[in-house]
Amino acid sequence: MPKVLIIYTGGTIGMITDVETGSLTSVDFDVIDKHVPELKRLNIEIDTHCFAKPVDSSEINSEHWIQIADVIESNYDQYDGFVILHGSDTMSYTASALSFMLEGLSKPVLLTGSQLPIGTIRTDGKENIITALQIACDKDASGKPRIQEVAIYFEYYLYRGNRSTKDSANLFKAFRSPNLAPLAVAGVDIDYKSHRHSEEVAGNLTIHRGVSNRIALIKLFPGMNMQILSSAFDREHVDGIVMETFGSGNAPTDEYFQELCTNFTAEGGLILNITQCASGKVQQGKYATSEFFAQAGIISGADMTTEAAVTKMMHLLGNYSIDAVRSLMRENLRGELTD
Ligand code: ASP
Repeated sequence: MPKVLIIYTGGTIGMITDVETGSLTSVDFDVIDKHVPELKRLNIEIDTHCFAKPVDSSEINSEHWIQIADVIESNYDQYDGFVILHGSDTMSYTASALSFMLEGLSKPVLLTGSQLPIGTIRTDGKENIITALQIACDKDASGKPRIQEVAIYFEYYLYRGNRSTKDSANLFKAFRSPNLAPLAVAGVDIDYKSHRHSEEVAGNLTIHRGVSNRIALIKLFPGMNMQILSSAFDREHVDGIVMETFGSGNAPTDEYFQELCTNFTAEGGLILNITQCASGKVQQGKYATSEFFAQAGIISGADMTTEAAVTKMMHLLGNYSIDAVRSLMRENLRGELTD
């Protein structure tokens, strides 16, 4: 029988309504187990590792990512795959972060959750958890796991983790992967697509535990008061900035703003340019309004999602020298960007 380890972190899937406050709060995994008796009929040996205190995913931070990576590392040889139950709100951040922290994965690490708690009649949680478990065990004709990377399974679609983003607070189909087709679609059969990521070699798993939070995320908007950005460009506290710009990577040609960028990069800081658009990519120099970026040593983030860009920068700054980060940031490390 295949073996899967469920890592339960919290999220709506394991929440119930607190009678006093009326808000949803996390409960232990036993509640999920009780509401999905089908888990016992799956022909999968399931073990569980639960967070001491399950959390809403808004509480998730880099310590939790390290905790999850450590659990995967210490159980890696004993299991065919891993299913992480996680709140959907920040699931794409955790999936992206784990994709960078777990190098050389040759087994599936799947995140799933739900929009409605497992105990409610119309819950989407049951299907999500059951299919995620099945995908975590699926092998190809040669006996290799079908999925050998970090992915999100939600409402019939399997997405590469570092390409996914949450785009609905109420639809069951809560995620999308704007610049990469899903890795698999679950219908009557599970239809696996062929675009696996290139690094997927049956290598040794290496865990990178370093995570830096010396980064800032800036979203530009028309008419923005650039003065308020000065603290984000403060090299004393910040090593890297992820900047969400317009269209194919454009920004106002404001002198003060350009000076902030030039001084920051001259002092060794990194600026990564990603687009606010839902899909498509940054092409610095295509318009006059992005020429400055191309000249000022600002790095193009190509078609990375915000979640991938932020967690990639946190991961790289936490593990490598700033010079190495400058070149690694442009590279396609785990299938997170299109070259
Ligand atoms: N607030 C919840 C969370 O992210 C939402 C969910 O699980 O879907 O933990």
